[in-house]
Order: sequence, then C-alpha cells, then structure tokens
Amino acid sequence: MKKFVIFGNPVVHSKSPQMQNAGFKHLNFDANYEKFHLENGETIKDEFLKNRFSGANITVPHKEFAFKNADIVKGIAQKIEAVNTYILEDNKVIAYNTDAPGFLKAIESFGNIKNVLLLGAGGTAKAIALALAEKNIDVTVLNRSKEKLEFFKNTNIKAFSFEDFKINNFDLVVNSTSAGLKDDFLPAPKEILDEVLKNSSFAFDCIYGKITPFLDLAKSLDNEIKDGEDMLLYQGVLAFELFTNTKADNMVIEAMRRGLKEE
Ligand code: NDP
Repeated sequence: MKKFVIFGNPVVHSKSPQMQNAGFKHLNFDANYEKFHLENGETIKDEFLKNRFSGANITVPHKEFAFKNADIVKGIAQKIEAVNTYILEDNKVIAYNTDAPGFLKAIESFGNIKNVLLLGAGGTAKAIALALAEKNIDVTVLNRSKEKLEFFKNTNIKAFSFEDFKINNFDLVVNSTSAGLKDDFLPAPKEILDEVLKNSSFAFDCIYGKITPFLDLAKSLDNEIKDGEDMLLYQGVLAFELFTNTKADNMVIEAMRRGLKEE
C-alpha cells in the first residue's frame, strides 16, 4: 500500500485526507493518506524519505521550506518559491505547486476574465498573481501593509498599499487575505471596496465554507460570488493526478468533492 500525507502545523483541521482517500477509493488505488504534524519545516525532506511516503501535500507554514528542500522543483512553483506537493520519483523528491492552477480552474466558471484586483500579498497571493500573469490576465495587488509588495514589483506585477492605490475597473476581485476567516473584517477599507465592487462583475474569496463580509458586500453590489471550496478541491485533484499518475475524470472529481464535504 502506498503512503501519502499532508505536512502542516497545525494540520488537525485539514480536509485533505478525506478528499484524497475518497479519490483513492473511487479508483481502487491501493493507498492511504494521513495527517502529519510537522514542527520543524527544515526536516520535511528527511521525514518524507525516512517514512517512505510516495507523495505528500504541504500546508501552512511549511510551503517555503518544502520548496527549499526539494531535489527538483517543476513548473510555476519555481517562480512562486513555495510548493504544496511532493512526489517521490527515482529516489528524488519532485515538488509542484498545485494551488496556482487550482485557483485558475476554480475561476473558470466566471468565463473570460481580463483583469483582476487581488487583495492580499501573502503566500496564496503570490501563487494566484503568478498564475494569472502566466495566463496573460492583468493583475493588480492591493495589500494592507507595504512590506510584502516587493516580491510582486520584482516580478513586474502592479502592487499597491491602501495609501497609494487608485480606483480602477476590474472584472474580478479576489480576497486572498485572511480577513473574514476568523473575524468579521473586510480585507480593505469599505470606501475602496464599495467603489471597486460597484464596477466589477465577479468576486472570489479563497476562504471556504462561509459567506465572508467581503463576499456579502460584493453580492450586495451585484457581483456573482464564489468561495474557496473549488480552489481547495482542484489543488487536491491536481495533486491526486500526480499521486496516482492518472487523469481525474468528473466521477473522481465528484467523489473527491463528496469526501471534502464529509463531516
Ligand atoms: P498569509 O498569512 O501568507 O497572508 C495573509 C495576508 O492577509 C497578508 O497579505 C495580510 O496583510 C492580509 N491580512 C490579514 N488580515 C488582514 C486584515 N484584517 N485586513 C487586511 N488584510 C489582512 O496567508 P495565506 O496567503 O497563506 O492565506 C490567505 C487566505 O487564503 C487564508 O484565509 C487561507 O485560509 C486562504 N487559503 C485558501 C486556500 C483554498 O484552497 N481555498 C488555499 C490557501 C489559502 P499584511 O501583509 O498587511 O499583514
């Protein structure tokens, strides 16, 4: 039986095991996926090899450590400098970032998007900004503090803090901050959001399982809204394809979605 894990700290609330195991069961793939609480991110590769895992996902706060420790980093993860998936191939640790393509898949239901305002400048924002830029979708980053904007400016992505931001027209506004996760904050001042959302058509929140104050405001201003469930699902589906070396069809994807929603 192949062994897979999700490394994180904390990891106890992760829904990845129930989602991945539902996919394995659907395919009759002989594997088991568990949670792995990892204190020290620097040890991630050693733990992965020592335990003979075939693959892993990596969540907060270890994505950058996982990037640094991998033998080979593939695709857009090289630019993002953070990875969420490990695969063992010929005794080498191969790393990928499936958060970025998972986000693109999640916003496909909005149709053709030309320009995006991305709220937040953390790890998730980096993955989303680079995924959008690679698709030639115009992206502007807006963040509460200035400190994290350098990464974006260095990769030719427009990036502002609340003080120097000028209102513009955007098709889609994305909340990639943690405002609204465990509190009732908006991710940016209401005056800015009111103006932006009045002119946009779609709003997406990376937070899943609830209508955040951001999505609530966007809906009241006639935007079509979507939470982060599909992003979580599709990053998992893309990792699953790497784990099983198969292409996930709709039946597998729906089995994984049901797994995700299990209590
Ligand atoms: P980080 O800690 O790396 O970044 C957090 C960002 O949120 C920073 O830009 C920070 O701004 C901003 N922020 C936090 N609180 C506020 C606030 N009250 N008002 C304005 N800005 C705020 O987090 P991640 O990028 O890892 O995660 C961001 C969110 O995305 C989380 O809610 C997480 O749950 C969600 N997520 C969802 C996924 C999915 O699959 N659906 C996958 C990954 C993440 P500052 O720089 O000023 O501190």
